[in-house]
Amino acid sequence: MPDPQSKRPGGTDAPACDFDAVIVGAGFAGLYSLRRLRSMGLSARVFEIGSGVGGTWFWNRYPGARCDVESMEYSYQFDDALQQEWEWTERYATQPEILRYLNHVADRFDLRRDIRFDTRVTAATFDEAAGQWTVETDDGARVTATHCIMASGCLSARNIPDFKGIDSFAGATYHTGDWPEEEVDFSGRRVGIIGTGSSAIQCIPLIAEQADRLFVFQRTPNYSIPAFNAPLDPEVQKAVKADYAGLRARARRNRSGIDFTVGESGVFDVAPEERDAVYEERWQTCGIGFLGAFSDLFATAEANDTAAEFVRSKIRETVHDPAVAELLSPHYHIGCKRTCVDTDYYATYNRDNVTLVDVSETPIGEITRSGLKVGERDYEFDTLIFATGFDAMTGPLTRIDIRGIGGRSLAEKWKGGPRSLLGVATAGFPNLHIIAGPGSPSVLSNMVQSIEQNVEWIADCIGYMRENGFACVEATVEAEDAWVAHVNEVADATLYTKTKSWYIGSNIPGKAPVFMPYIGFPDYVRKCDEVVAKGYAGFAFVEHSDAPEVLDDSKPGREAARTARLRRAR
Ligand code: FAD
Ligand code: NAP
Repeated sequence: MPDPQSKRPGGTDAPACDFDAVIVGAGFAGLYSLRRLRSMGLSARVFEIGSGVGGTWFWNRYPGARCDVESMEYSYQFDDALQQEWEWTERYATQPEILRYLNHVADRFDLRRDIRFDTRVTAATFDEAAGQWTVETDDGARVTATHCIMASGCLSARNIPDFKGIDSFAGATYHTGDWPEEEVDFSGRRVGIIGTGSSAIQCIPLIAEQADRLFVFQRTPNYSIPAFNAPLDPEVQKAVKADYAGLRARARRNRSGIDFTVGESGVFDVAPEERDAVYEERWQTCGIGFLGAFSDLFATAEANDTAAEFVRSKIRETVHDPAVAELLSPHYHIGCKRTCVDTDYYATYNRDNVTLVDVSETPIGEITRSGLKVGERDYEFDTLIFATGFDAMTGPLTRIDIRGIGGRSLAEKWKGGPRSLLGVATAGFPNLHIIAGPGSPSVLSNMVQSIEQNVEWIADCIGYMRENGFACVEATVEAEDAWVAHVNEVADATLYTKTKSWYIGSNIPGKAPVFMPYIGFPDYVRKCDEVVAKGYAGFAFVEHSDAPEVLDDSKPGREAARTARLRRAR
């Protein structure tokens, strides 16, 4: 599918390529990347597996799916007219509403004409001589581009555990992250659901209302804070819009990139009654902002446990059967696995038609024709839901055969854990730009805000390359090593690394136990800005082949060697 707008990435003597950039994915990240590159006069082709835009919000159509960052914040800020004109209807928008919003964005900026739907990128190979990427898709097509932008998501590679007998189940099966477009009616059905993460916690109450019987197979209980979702008061919306910039600026100052205040006191600076009052107020009003109650909740186990115990006391208050309440009570550090936000989750276990099955000690042994087996016990149902999550952060990238300099595979490079500079680049893979990659705040922040920051940073870097006549950019090994060490150092000072979670890959057998996201949105932005202020310190550039020499040869050591190698490779 060659495009008329052919480009010459390596200079006039380099082979022409089809696009300035290929973008993988048409969610929040892919749509904004396309918009941004177009505004710079660049050509781009987006590939998307799904048949429509939306990414997460295209795929996760399960009952109850909605954001848990408030709607007014979980939205783009790059275009003020867009944020002024869109009217959110609820405090936490539902999946259909967010999908409508993203379709509106695609139409408003006329994005669809550059997107190929129903097309999976299977491979991307860097051609060192030409300084360009060749991208292959599952329809057998190949396109070339100077830049390859991975907007493939953090939570788009579904995880279905390799249960024995998985194909033998005779009834209907669903994964929450690949839910059909048509409504699934559970009336009169017996349903089994595996998993109790955020997705399960959102859909369980609604499925329980419809189904005859619901069996919930729980390996680890989760902390969940009530959403107190409600229609958005038009006056509140108006007030936010009157100073949207103020809201966004406040959010950017917080570690999570979300506008909630973080208490200045430490947990033990206040008396126990005062502490509980603070927790109660946050519980009633803040959703995920509950975790900002005190300054040291992520610093020490003792401080953290006061918040954890507060939530456990709420579970005991809500769930009538003490044995079930105990099973539902988590005992890991609160906040260190993704905290959930729910509507009526714990109370659902008071229903007669809901059974909680603990599979922590005795795991699911086998999926059978009529249900599943835990130990000697058979559970029978006619619909099975996998709410088993994702191969997070790295999965969407390593499932594509990405090959950089010397044919080296990204999956191979990241076998021991992902390595990146700022999450946006990885050494040995020139002009491969990753949005919300491992090593960036991504999943520990309001992701829309982090995505916009990454898209803008990457677009600016591409702009800088064009202004300076550079054909290729690549993270240096030294800078990448230093960034990985910094990401780990920041994480190690918290309780995050002391808790098994998908943040450290614990949900995928054999995945290297490496903490992937960067903690702290404001610090991250500062670091990104510093890199730019120092002339893209830590990145090596290669000039177009028709230019006399590489500009940053002055860099010492391996960086210069890499620059020289890249120049030779041209
Ligand atoms: P995605 O939306 O995941 O889009 C990536 C796209 O890339 C997908 O459509 C996928 O099909 C496509 N793709 C992947 N690989 C390929 C390939 N090889 N070829 C072609 N296309 C490919 N974050 C928050 O901050 N707040 C929330 O409240 C929140 N709620 C969430 C609720 C759910 C149910 C889930 C699963 C995640 C939630 N998240 C939330 C995280 C959410 O993923 C991000 O907020 C955001 O939507 C990610 O956008 P994205 O464009 O980076 O990735
Ligand atoms: P998840 O949080 O990873 O939960 C997966 C669940 O499946 C866990 O309970 C896990 O148990 C269980 N599981 C996995 N393998 C299992 C096995 N072999 N046997 C038994 N149980 C097994 O996935 P998710 O719920 O889809 O959420 C993923 C992320 O998406 C969230 O953390 C969040 O970032 C985002 N999300 C957000 C919202 C929102 O509220 N806005 C909603 C949905 C998703 P273990 O915990 O023991 O591994």
